[in-house]
Amino acid sequence: MAKKFPTIRIKSHFIYTVWEISHLLGCHKKTVIRWIRHQGLTADTSVKPWLIEGHELKAFIGARQSKARCKLALHHCYCFGCKSPREPDGKIADYTHQTTSSGQLIGLCPSCGSLMHKIVKRKDLESIRAKIEVTLQQAHPRIVSRDDPPSNVTFGDEAAPHGKAQHR
Ligand SMILES: [Zn+2]
Repeated sequence: MAKKFPTIRIKSHFIYTVWEISHLLGCHKKTVIRWIRHQGLTADTSVKPWLIEGHELKAFIGARQSKARCKLALHHCYCFGCKSPREPDGKIADYTHQTTSSGQLIGLCPSCGSLMHKIVKRKDLESIRAKIEVTLQQAHPRIVSRDDPPSNVTFGDEAAPHGKAQHR
């Protein structure tokens, strides 16, 4: 999981150097340089040392961390009510196939009772079922076929071209 950086320390109206950011956030200078070179952190590189505006840094770190927040434990869902990851109430959840390779896990938040949804990979289902009780729900067939990415289909039968099978 990505390291959590203290964005609260970043002052929007300040201008920072790479060195200052590495001290402020407790990360390596090289990490900051990588953000600028490869990950889209806006910096003024026409001067030395490079200068980064506080509000740009804040936005960059914020976006990074909202991405990291999605990396939950396999059997945890993110509750939008509590704004934090939760294990489904009673350790039970429903799983509905959506494509041949993924589906939706649905559980209730143990704290606020909100319905929590999460897209999970079918191959992860066994690991999830080792932690919580998952009930498989029948998906509507139309939904299953609609999103099937043909290149990802691994089952011989389903790799047949669209339309009626000709082998009978
Ligand atoms: Zn909740």
